[in-house]
Amino acid sequence: MDPTRPAPPPVAEITDLPAQRVMEVADGIVAVLQEPGTLGLSNCVAIAGESTSDRGGVLLDAMLLPEMATKARAALAARGIHIDTVVHTHHHLDHIGGNEAFADARCVALPAVVADIDQMLANITIFDWLIPRYAGRFATLTVRRPEPVGLAELAIPRGGRPMLFGPAHSGADLAVWFPDSRVLLAGDLCMNGVTPLAIHGSQAGWIDAIDALIALRPLTVFCGHGPLATVEQLHALRDYLSRVVTAGKAAAAAGHSPDDVLPDFDPGPLASWLEPTRTRQNLLRAIAEAG
Ligand SMILES: [Zn+2]
Repeated sequence: MDPTRPAPPPVAEITDLPAQRVMEVADGIVAVLQEPGTLGLSNCVAIAGESTSDRGGVLLDAMLLPEMATKARAALAARGIHIDTVVHTHHHLDHIGGNEAFADARCVALPAVVADIDQMLANITIFDWLIPRYAGRFATLTVRRPEPVGLAELAIPRGGRPMLFGPAHSGADLAVWFPDSRVLLAGDLCMNGVTPLAIHGSQAGWIDAIDALIALRPLTVFCGHGPLATVEQLHALRDYLSRVVTAGKAAAAAGHSPDDVLPDFDPGPLASWLEPTRTRQNLLRAIAEAG
């Protein structure tokens, strides 16, 4: 420890860990869900190894905090799933912050995701402000830097095909598609019941990514936030994002602000989804993307 620096504040003990629900998505694919998926509550999903031993499991994403990921790890271990590799779908802290709970596993991400993680970790205490529920936890959070690997090197068991999109939800977003079971692990490219924050990637790019995911005709969609979904939620999200983009273009042309547009904005199928105040930020971004 550097003696010239003050000792870090004591680690705040997390006393309000969210409930987790373990769901089998398909044979050997098990999701751990933190519903309803609002701010800071994300999901992870394990793909069990194919060998007769319990080795070779891959975990997509690792939640916000090691306390959450440790709980998920225990639930997966109880089902005989041992995680050898953690793969991060994108750089947002609510999907990587818990990766220290898998310190014995390899931790990987696509190079573009690792670059964004580096930037985010340089400014990690901003999360005390962004995610006030866990304020005080972030300054001492140890987050592993994933090893950068190319798309072709990402080995997903059970025939999983990694697909890269972006900029979409973030600068680079990984999804995994299982053609035999028609299971799509969409990460934050799909959300279910929670209004997305579409301010870090590209709204138009996200719509294109959703079109590509819909074209796969998935039966089951694992989302980064909220319960398991179907293609219906992809359509709903696409509808909402195109409404945001359209309103942003009109506002940019008229010189209007998000607050001018918001009272008349119709979120369509997302009207009943949680976190509706994110629409204002999405409109601000849409106006910037249109300008
Ligand atoms: Zn995200």
